[in-house]
Amino acid sequence: MTSEARRVIASEEEFVAHNYHPLEVVVASADGAWVTDVHGKRYLDCLAAYSAVNFGHSNHTLLAAAREQLDRVTLTSRAFYNDQLGSFAQALAELAGKEMVLPMNTGAEAVESAIKVARAWGYRVKGVAAGQANIIVMAGNFHGRTTTIISFSDDEDARADFGPYTPGFRTVPYGDAAALAAAIDENTVAVLIEPIQGESGIVVPPADYLPTVRELCTDHNVLFIADEIQSGLGRTGATFACDLVDVVPDLYLLGKALGGGIVPVSAVVGNRDILGVLQPGQHGSTFGGNPLAAAVGRAVVRMLASGEYQKRARVLGARLHERLGALVGHGVLEVRGAGLWAGIDIDPALASGRAVCERLMERGVLAKDTHGSTIRLAPPIVVEENDLDWAVDQLEAVLEEF
Ligand code: PLP
Repeated sequence: MTSEARRVIASEEEFVAHNYHPLEVVVASADGAWVTDVHGKRYLDCLAAYSAVNFGHSNHTLLAAAREQLDRVTLTSRAFYNDQLGSFAQALAELAGKEMVLPMNTGAEAVESAIKVARAWGYRVKGVAAGQANIIVMAGNFHGRTTTIISFSDDEDARADFGPYTPGFRTVPYGDAAALAAAIDENTVAVLIEPIQGESGIVVPPADYLPTVRELCTDHNVLFIADEIQSGLGRTGATFACDLVDVVPDLYLLGKALGGGIVPVSAVVGNRDILGVLQPGQHGSTFGGNPLAAAVGRAVVRMLASGEYQKRARVLGARLHERLGALVGHGVLEVRGAGLWAGIDIDPALASGRAVCERLMERGVLAKDTHGSTIRLAPPIVVEENDLDWAVDQLEAVLEEF
């Protein structure tokens, strides 16, 4: 490593809170599926900023939309109207087959917003007694880092020492419809669920699970909230992971790729009978719905509306999973996922996920471990097939090194 890279890392270590443990690569520029470090070495980005860069780094269409808006107006606050937000919201609602959008910035804010909406809907529409609403969440969930969200996390690293915790949540095992059915009562206002659990290691539930969750929610007048912040917007080979099993939730939570890797943009998307519960003064965000975010978000929606990215993720994803499947029994215990999204359980007797990611980095592939021995691959959807093959070759070679 050069002194320049060491200086950059040292300054982060000294002046930035240590809430991450980055790989020792210092990115200076990026294009498509590739990033370049301060020495000029190129790496294939197989994380895509946790799926926020689904459409590739420096995507020209998205950059053009951002640049055009940068020269016009970037922030008005919603104290006034701006000429970008309405058309973005309409396009996004149409993409999701819904009627309305609540624009926010980060994923956690979208989750928090949906919790507020579900509670208000419970009291004002469903008729739940004041202060009694409960929301059912899944074991192994990851929905963000705010105090309310970590209150219903079962990851001790995410939770410990951050209490007191927000009440009103019940946890049931993920993928277990009977447990969910048993947990629903008359005060249940919502089920909050990742259709595929990302941070937990790309965990895909049984095929009949989400359709059963949908049925249970409908039968008990409970909102089905799908957190598609990581799974949505093309990653799985469909616009939404829920599409893979023909399920339509009441609320979609979107973020990450909605901002095209350029600006933080998130949204709660649903129908008027639910999102309509919010009245002026009850919720807000200074930056939510800003014209720059709306212009980029609209360009993202336009790209998804063609279906081209979903198809590409499907085709390349099939190739990726075929290649990874062949590694099972050769240092890999299991591979899960959908589309261009894979969770790979490395045999812990062989190496930790972190150690594999460090070796991959030396070979020019950037990936991220999660939960000890799992690594995840989620390259930008624009990745070339031969580059994807090459990345799997590198993983194969790394596994042979241990
Ligand atoms: N929900 C899911 C499923 C996520 O994967 C994440 C981030 O990884 C979030 C919510 C939180 O998003 P953000 O980090 O933008 O707050």
